[in-house]
Amino acid sequence: MAITKLARKKVREMTPYQSARRLGGSGDIWLNANESPFANEYNIKCDRLNRYSTCQPQELIQAYADYAGVSAEQVLTSRGADEGIELLIRAFCEPKQDSILYCPPTYGMYAISAETFDVDTKTVPLTADWQLDLPAIRDNLDSVKLVFVCSPNNPTGNLIKRRDLEALLDMTAGKALVVVDEAYIDFCPEASTVDLLSQYPNLVILRTLSKAFALAGLRCGFTLANQEIIKLLLKVIAPYPVPVPVTDIAVQALSPAGLAKTKFQVLDLSANRAYLQAGLSMLEGVTVFDGYGNYLLVKFPDAEGLFNTLWDHGIILRRSPVENCIRISVGNRDECEKTLAFIREQLNQN
Ligand code: PMP
Repeated sequence: MAITKLARKKVREMTPYQSARRLGGSGDIWLNANESPFANEYNIKCDRLNRYSTCQPQELIQAYADYAGVSAEQVLTSRGADEGIELLIRAFCEPKQDSILYCPPTYGMYAISAETFDVDTKTVPLTADWQLDLPAIRDNLDSVKLVFVCSPNNPTGNLIKRRDLEALLDMTAGKALVVVDEAYIDFCPEASTVDLLSQYPNLVILRTLSKAFALAGLRCGFTLANQEIIKLLLKVIAPYPVPVPVTDIAVQALSPAGLAKTKFQVLDLSANRAYLQAGLSMLEGVTVFDGYGNYLLVKFPDAEGLFNTLWDHGIILRRSPVENCIRISVGNRDECEKTLAFIREQLNQN
């Protein structure tokens, strides 16, 4: 293909992120993308659509700052947390010179965004209990500008120990930023590192409305950091990154009524997660790992076979890089019941 040859070598050789949406499937039960099962109603106004939006709508920034317990100067909004990842790499990593470091198994977009910008990636796997391997990270910090840590971690579901995050922040002070991806933190807000922002100028936190706020389709995320970092990110962001209707909807989601709804839905999903965890743990040969987000990582005797059978029957889950594990998003009670019943039936047959 003549045109393909024109593309950058890196891009020609890249495999795009295998998002749940991209992988397709057809079915009635979709528990593969850590989406919320709740579709909430919003009012949309069309009277300002002929005008560009402001770069960082004050009303939205203030609403999220109030929710997160930080000041407006410490908040940047972007097209999902995914764009936050990209902006950080673009602002802090010199292509072909600097690196990012991340700890697999974890979210795949850190590596893909880095590759796209010709930034090297270093990996230091999580320990056997999915915590940070601090000595190995220390040994691999040369040329590293950003260390990505996901907590609750996707796909394992566990939290990273706070004292390890503090040790990492100390270890990287003056050399690199620590980016804590808190995409799922609204399911366990007490575990947030947001209070550490005042102590650590090299801490960055990623947030999103895609999960607990049930707005994955809105594409609205936030980066929380000290003002100096936010100002740098604002240099590389597109001029009008937040569509007008996105601001309108996000502000409604962050209003007192919106927040109350989210809180209620988080409680509901936590109950469903407990239901799934209890039901699956009772099955012989099945291990359910403790999960703090809206998903569970579950180990089965033959995960691949089970995954395919579920897929063929319209129950779409997510394969995981962790051996013999499937990631199951927590859906509504009906979806959880049907999925559990189907798996129970399958395992009894084998
Ligand atoms: N971080 C993690 C850990 C995620 O799982 C996701 C969603 N797939 C994101 C970031 C991106 O979220 P957003 O929808 O806000 O781009």
